[in-house]
Amino acid sequence: MAVAVCSAVMILALTLLPSPDATATKTVRLKPTSANVEPTPIEQAQELVDEQLVEPQMETVIARNWQDQKVRSGDTLSHIFKRVGLGSRDVYEVMAGQGDVELLKKIHPGQTMRFDIEGQKLVALEYVMSRTDSLMIEQSENGYVAEMQIKEMVPFTSYAEGTIDSSLFLAAQKAGLSEGLTMELANIFGWDVDFVLDIREGDSFRVIYQEMHLDGEKVKDGEILAAQFTNQGNTFTAIRYETSDRGASYFTPQGESMRKAFLRSPISFARISSHFNLRRKHPVLHTIRAHKGTDYAASRGTPIKATGDGKVIFAGVKGGYGKVVILQHGQKYRSLYAHMNNYARGIRSGTRVKQGQTIGYVGSTGLATGPHLHYEFYVNGAVRNPVTVKLPHAEPIAKQDKEAFLTVAQQMVGQLSTYAAAMESEKVANLDQ
Ligand SMILES: [Zn+2]
Repeated sequence: MAVAVCSAVMILALTLLPSPDATATKTVRLKPTSANVEPTPIEQAQELVDEQLVEPQMETVIARNWQDQKVRSGDTLSHIFKRVGLGSRDVYEVMAGQGDVELLKKIHPGQTMRFDIEGQKLVALEYVMSRTDSLMIEQSENGYVAEMQIKEMVPFTSYAEGTIDSSLFLAAQKAGLSEGLTMELANIFGWDVDFVLDIREGDSFRVIYQEMHLDGEKVKDGEILAAQFTNQGNTFTAIRYETSDRGASYFTPQGESMRKAFLRSPISFARISSHFNLRRKHPVLHTIRAHKGTDYAASRGTPIKATGDGKVIFAGVKGGYGKVVILQHGQKYRSLYAHMNNYARGIRSGTRVKQGQTIGYVGSTGLATGPHLHYEFYVNGAVRNPVTVKLPHAEPIAKQDKEAFLTVAQQMVGQLSTYAAAMESEKVANLDQ
């Protein structure tokens, strides 16, 4: 029984430390403990989180006698005002008020309007626009005054880990990760790991991510801050880093981009119909002729993506290639896309293209038995197998950000280990009982 529990997938996902940008200043020291009398590190951390969720109310709150009205389909302000016994004069006075009263023109079904009416007089109106935003309109000596009230979501840092039996999605679900976060995790590591073909039983992941809380309740997922994925014994680590000018991106702890300068394939989810083979019998010519690229079977008209940022150096008809586009990527790399049905708009010699941009559509021009994409990849002028060639990383962390990044990366890598150790000791404690 113990063995069964021990080998079971770790299915815990915990809310532990508040994020650095949360208002709380306390930190949790996680220390391994095996004694049952003491609370486990995870329990200690949880208590701390619970404490922080009860925040003292700083503002004096006026007691309101709210009367709620849901906005129904086809409702106008007048309709809603009428339902609570107010008239068109009240609508007029509110709309003549100061502040963003214009927002009241944007009411839509499902939203809530709350009225505080004393006698026959409207003293306050709250237009609840979303979980975080509302417009508060209050009576003053000079008519109504509207003010936006925005509740700030508090990010809490969570940790999840899991071991894969069959698929990442199942394991992530067991670990308590949402579908969105699982997709994000697959995107981060998707440059190194093919989540369809490369996954093996025993592969594992660790994720530090944020959850956005409002009034002590999780509202939505935040960002993945750091993650580790072990695939067939190789561990990849990704750290999120954000700068005001470059936005957010994921890097290895050394500062290399997790992204590659090239997509592995110019067509998403396409089947390879013919592999790179320098001694292949040509299907049309029936002679031994090198197959210098990879063929992707796809229906006519399927968009073909530029695998990397670059410049079109040829777009035209070239013998057996039919309609072909050749891209130059810096000094070292070149890619070729053949048998196109047609080119994407604006694709001609000299055009600059971005990675992932559509440059043309699958066809069967030139020597082709049916619609497919023939893709070639060159490194320093030599043709290489596009499926196995080692792809260069995208731009690393910027020089001016490197030092700050390395500090963050070191902390995050440390946290991944700390969380994993805490989970381990929790697991051991559970087994002891
Ligand atoms: Zn081919």
